[in-house]
Amino acid sequence: MKVAVFSAKEYDKSFLCQEASGTDVQFTFFDTTLNKKTVSLAEGYDAVNCFVNDTLDAEVLRQLKTYNVSHASLRCAGFNNVELHAAKKLGITVTRVPAYSPESVAEHTFALLLSLNRKIHKAYNRVKENNFTLQGLMGFNLHGKTVGVIGTGKIGKAVIRICQGFGCNVLCYDPYPCSTLQQQNVEYVELDTLFTHSDIISLHCPLTTETQHLINQESIAKMKDSAVLINTSRGGLVDTKAIIAALKTKKIGGLALDVYEMESELFFQDLSCEIIQDDVFQRLLTFPNVVITGHQGFFTQEALKEIAQTTLNNLINYPQGKLQPDNIVQL
Ligand code: NAD
Repeated sequence: MKVAVFSAKEYDKSFLCQEASGTDVQFTFFDTTLNKKTVSLAEGYDAVNCFVNDTLDAEVLRQLKTYNVSHASLRCAGFNNVELHAAKKLGITVTRVPAYSPESVAEHTFALLLSLNRKIHKAYNRVKENNFTLQGLMGFNLHGKTVGVIGTGKIGKAVIRICQGFGCNVLCYDPYPCSTLQQQNVEYVELDTLFTHSDIISLHCPLTTETQHLINQESIAKMKDSAVLINTSRGGLVDTKAIIAALKTKKIGGLALDVYEMESELFFQDLSCEIIQDDVFQRLLTFPNVVITGHQGFFTQEALKEIAQTTLNNLINYPQGKLQPDNIVQL
């Protein structure tokens, strides 16, 4: 089976090749993203394998179909970059990796929260310059603070476990509350209550038409003054211009992002010698109380191994009609 792997980095090659050894899966790696300009690279392959910033819109999917590619395999959990109606109409099966080390993203969420709150990003540079003053580095205890968790799936649950370890109070919102969490006395509330009562808000829901710009001018207005927002889920959940306005008025006291709504133009590339054209992103970088990482929540050895294993299983099982239902992206 010949598979064209898009957005392929060295670490993808290494983990995927290790898993494919001894199977009939042959990978060809392209470092470019999949989009309408690059889709012709997929000609002659049985399947494509894609990541978060590859574009699988109707035009790309139609083109894939003309090359007889009937399987689009994703090596990630989210699938907001795929036009599912078009895929269904064309008979292209979309598979994903529904679960891989939720702890990898949950732990990164806390890495961001702790860095932001205890100003590790500033302290690190200060100490390197032999400046050992503490002015401007004061944080607050997480113990006793209320964390609002939006989305209590696999990652949200792992975040809740960590919150409990820190002695935080947890409020949750999810349209499909988890009965196990409810039995453990984790409190589900309406979204507005979560906004008004949380000191820290952490996003763990998927990006859908319903959740697009869930964090906007209106929802920010409901939040506590100086609330801290963490987004390790998908960039489109946050209206970036609204959050910048709230950072300027200090309504938002801190922001940590692993994802950004226009990240496909920036992330996973070395642009250190380039002029960044995205003025909104550049403005975000100017705030002392903003910490940004470039979509690395998933980036642990454990997660990459599990991603490669599930991806291989999906590729091998698809022609045999043995795909696990959870791994197929349904409309
Ligand atoms: P999951 O499917 O296990 O959980 C998602 C939860 O969100 C579900 O419980 C669902 O009911 C809930 N939800 C759906 N609509 C909602 C809404 N309108 N409001 C609130 N909750 C809603 O997914 P997961 O594995 O926990 O992943 C969560 C998200 O994390 C993914 O969608 C993905 O975007 C993101 N993610 C980011 C990284 C990273 O590297 N930063 C890695 C993996 C996943």
